[in-house]
Amino acid sequence: MSFQSPLITAIVFGISLAFILGTIAHRLKVPPLVGYLLAGVIVGPFTPGLVVDQRLTLQLAEIGVILLMFGVGLHFSLKELISVRRIVVPGTILQVLVSSLLGTGAAWFFGWPLFGCIIFGLCLSVASTVVVLRTLQDHRALDTEYGRLAVGWLVVQDLLTVIALVLLPALSGIFGSGAPQSLNFGVYGSALALTLGKLVLFVAVMLLIGRRVIPAILHYIAHTGSRELFRLAVLSVALGVALAAAELFGVSIALGAFFAGMILSESPLSQRAAEETLPLRDAFAVLFFVSVGMLFNPNVLLDEPWRLVLTFLLVLAGNGALTILICRRFGGSLANAVFVGVVLAQIGEFSFILVDLGVGLKALPPDARDLILGASLLSIMINPAIFYAARSWRRRSEPASKPVSAVLEPEAIEPTHLTDHAVLVGYGRVGRLVATGLQSAEIPFLVLEEAGDARENLRSTGVELIVGNAAQDAILDAANLAAARMIFVAIPEAFEAGQIVQGARKRNPQLRIVARAHFDAEVEHLLQLGADIVIMGEREIAQAMLAEARSFQDSTLETQSGV
Ligand code: AMP
Repeated sequence: MSFQSPLITAIVFGISLAFILGTIAHRLKVPPLVGYLLAGVIVGPFTPGLVVDQRLTLQLAEIGVILLMFGVGLHFSLKELISVRRIVVPGTILQVLVSSLLGTGAAWFFGWPLFGCIIFGLCLSVASTVVVLRTLQDHRALDTEYGRLAVGWLVVQDLLTVIALVLLPALSGIFGSGAPQSLNFGVYGSALALTLGKLVLFVAVMLLIGRRVIPAILHYIAHTGSRELFRLAVLSVALGVALAAAELFGVSIALGAFFAGMILSESPLSQRAAEETLPLRDAFAVLFFVSVGMLFNPNVLLDEPWRLVLTFLLVLAGNGALTILICRRFGGSLANAVFVGVVLAQIGEFSFILVDLGVGLKALPPDARDLILGASLLSIMINPAIFYAARSWRRRSEPASKPVSAVLEPEAIEPTHLTDHAVLVGYGRVGRLVATGLQSAEIPFLVLEEAGDARENLRSTGVELIVGNAAQDAILDAANLAAARMIFVAIPEAFEAGQIVQGARKRNPQLRIVARAHFDAEVEHLLQLGADIVIMGEREIAQAMLAEARSFQDSTLETQSGV
């Protein structure tokens, strides 16, 4: 089946099938990501029926990569990135080198030419940015030590890939594979120097000019008061810098977006910028998984099962196990090393680009592409399971080992011992005021807040905090709602607030539930789900304004009658 408007078809089918299969996966308690990948296989060219334009889906997925990297950049300051350099720089270089060698060795047995083997090896040594970032985000681990290490690792892998992409066509001449070129070190040396030069120039331009200009533009736009313009400004910065990085400076799109985000991370507007890109980012990141599924040719499972299994195992060994060993060797703690290795134990977009190049240079047979795609699909699918295994290992080994810092393993949620207490969800503009009031009334309470920086704000107050999304069962369980007296749901988003209210009511029918809303429909919704009282911000503001008007009028009347 084919359609008249391929772009719309790609978006509609990509997103809706991902939604349907993601929901089914969720119901079956499998990560939704598996559903997204299968959605891709269904709309891909290798399965009968519906076929969606692959190249378009890939390009749409790139937008997801840009927004993901931009979001991660917003979280990161240059200082944090530099703080992990001692482990990350030598570690990643060694890991890429050794796992490339392992892959090269295996490919040698497949009977391919040496140059092709090297490219194949490289494909197995670089992890997928999207998968790493999604895993870290899903587990709220971006701010943890291993999260920083993993992102640093990705950045170095990304840089190495950029260099490899320049060098490979040049080296194909030296190795004399399919595409013979004359051996001219001068030309290749200058090509490499040019690439590195452009890379340095890009970083310099971003640090010297971008660092001043980009926040200034956003501040200016923020003062216009138009949310729409602000959203457009953020998107223009993220997409524009990424494209410029790729087209003008030869840097990868992902790295460009990361830099754009990092430059904004010091600005007070970074939080808002991140929020504005969230919905788009999530939708397009899903398309990334759909596009991986689309590229997968299921025949490879029948034609070359053993080669596929070997390639897949090499990914686990080279990107996973080896990273653990190396990260440990360069000074990472065992737990950090294990988690960095686990999130990196897969391959994705960079490997596709590299293998395409290899096939294009005729150094690799087209089968190699199927193997890489197959191994990528398998390794991405299995990744959540490995992550959970690592986490339960961590939990089991925890009592025996030294106490783990809370930053390292955010999943280890410490349940509260409070009883007869109040629970405050959200520590923002509203939550903070509620907290001050509860403190002065000496009501024992704890805070559930998803932003990690609440930890610093609450430290001096001695108030108990559980970091995490209160809509998750584990977080609500840790708040001991069954023994609590009341809960204040002080977050602005009614959908999540509804989930929290419902979860709270389920745990304690007697609990006094006070929620926050901004629209009449939200008030209804929250009351229906079990809230006792819903305070609508806007109504309270109007009443406070009217009260002001009344008291002003009274005071003028008083002065008039006084005269
Ligand atoms: P504000 O609108 O300024 O009162 O801020 C709302 C606060 O609630 C922010 O600090 C958010 O990080 C926090 N928040 C929003 N949703 C959740 C959630 N589902 N769980 C925990 N905290 C949340």
